[in-house]
Amino acid sequence: MEQPFKRYVCLVCGYIYDEAQGDPEHGLPAGTRFENIPDDWYCPDCQVTKADFVAMGDMPARGDSNTAPAPVVADMAGSRDAVVIVGAGMAGWAVAEGIRAREPDRTIRMLATDSGDYYIKPQLSNGFAKDLDAQSMVRESAVERATRLGVDLLPHLRALEIDRQRKRLITPRGGIPYAQLVLATGALPRRLRFAGSAAPPLAVNHLRDYRRLRSVLNEKPGARVAIIGAGLVGCELAEDLRSGGFAVTLIEQAPRPLARLLPGGLSEDLTHALAAREIELCLGVEVRKITAINGQQELELSDDRRTCVDVVVSALGIEPSMGLAKISGLRVATGVVVDETLRCSDPDIFALGDCAEFAGQVEPYVYALRAQSDVIADQITGGTGIYQPQPAVVIVKTPSLPLTVSPPAPGRRGRWDRVESDAGGSHYEYRSEDELLGFALSGRLTHRARELEARLHRRQRAVA
Ligand SMILES: Cc1cc2nc3c(=O)[nH]c(=O)nc-3n(C[C@H](O)[C@H](O)[C@H](O)COP(=O)(O)OP(=O)(O)OC[C@H]3O[C@@H](n4cnc5c(N)ncnc54)[C@H](O)[C@@H]3O)c2cc1C
Repeated sequence: MEQPFKRYVCLVCGYIYDEAQGDPEHGLPAGTRFENIPDDWYCPDCQVTKADFVAMGDMPARGDSNTAPAPVVADMAGSRDAVVIVGAGMAGWAVAEGIRAREPDRTIRMLATDSGDYYIKPQLSNGFAKDLDAQSMVRESAVERATRLGVDLLPHLRALEIDRQRKRLITPRGGIPYAQLVLATGALPRRLRFAGSAAPPLAVNHLRDYRRLRSVLNEKPGARVAIIGAGLVGCELAEDLRSGGFAVTLIEQAPRPLARLLPGGLSEDLTHALAAREIELCLGVEVRKITAINGQQELELSDDRRTCVDVVVSALGIEPSMGLAKISGLRVATGVVVDETLRCSDPDIFALGDCAEFAGQVEPYVYALRAQSDVIADQITGGTGIYQPQPAVVIVKTPSLPLTVSPPAPGRRGRWDRVESDAGGSHYEYRSEDELLGFALSGRLTHRARELEARLHRRQRAVA
């Protein structure tokens, strides 16, 4: 007899794969059984593989079911044994989850300048296509998540400084004692000051930014939007806003979109794909000035072109939030510097996610913060796990040309070779002599990512 369809949940983001419905958008027709999903399928929301899914009936118990969850209260004077986590983004919550899975009774305190509501940040650049408002992006409210994990949550509270001698985190509402402190303060969008009378451009790096962008655009159906910067977020947002019915101009200083990430040929393919979506591309130019004129914004470009739009969005990359670390005398460079145990220059303080720098690199991706949160949870609960970065695999959410890229590690010299290319997709490899150092795939060939990734892992293990 035919087995009933089952549902599987992504342990990272909570996305539910329902066998009855499949995932037709990503090649899985309704009725596809979980065991028949190919290994190169990625969670549509957070891009982990099916290895991170469990059947819904087998969900692991959260915390200790014999003890009532700790109340969500601010007990400033509480236990000196507490782990205090600064930041309630995906990184902060992942550490809380990791510690709770290992130690049901450990006091965990968490504070954030925002509400702490749990959302999947990568969705911020494909929400218009799905017509998702900010509230529907919240996977679990902060209160529900804190209660479920037994975390004392202190939302809307900024950490000002760390009194490392007395092991207290200083906040406007008093000091919070800690045994171990975790910095998960994320990053802020890089902002440039443009000449001219216009208000600073909007940016999209947080749920509240997305809420604001939506509310501005809701009032201007079909508005013209200029996006400054054709990096990952800029390209993804351009397609997303186009899908949402807006007229988009993408402005980039480099001669091609995603120029630093992609081999030239693929970057050109992306240019054509975006142009075919009627996204106007202004490449090889800078924005000189933005002037407010009758409710609109006029951008003056370095080639003397002028373009008038309703909304300007800046997508110029991010800067790790390391002010708290810096003012507290911790070692910082591009980010908060950590060692292989993910400890900062103070052994009782850890850092991860978009704010952390390991071996000279900040890795602002979900796969990195997941691996880092595991190491930190392990270290804090007495384990000996160490962080070993894996080759980056970046999935670019540009539906007109799906891309999966593993860029070479910084400092590795080689060149891009085209292995195969036709109208359906391309396969490039970055090599030094015979050594594979990276790859870039597009279109129908993105399914090769898993196999190439395995080859990169094998090479990395051989080098180690
Ligand atoms: C539009 C967009 C699309 C993306 N797409 C992808 C993708 O497809 N794949 C991928 O892997 N990655 C993607 N990323 C990157 C990924 O989302 C981030 O790497 C990740 O979410 C960072 O999480 P975080 O917890 O380190 O930082 P954040 O989410 O920035 O969280 C930082 C937290 O720290 C708090 N905080 C900061 N300073 C203080 C303080 N002094 N006191 C108290 N609290 C403080 C903040 O309130 C916040 O809660 C995308 C990012 C964006 C913006």
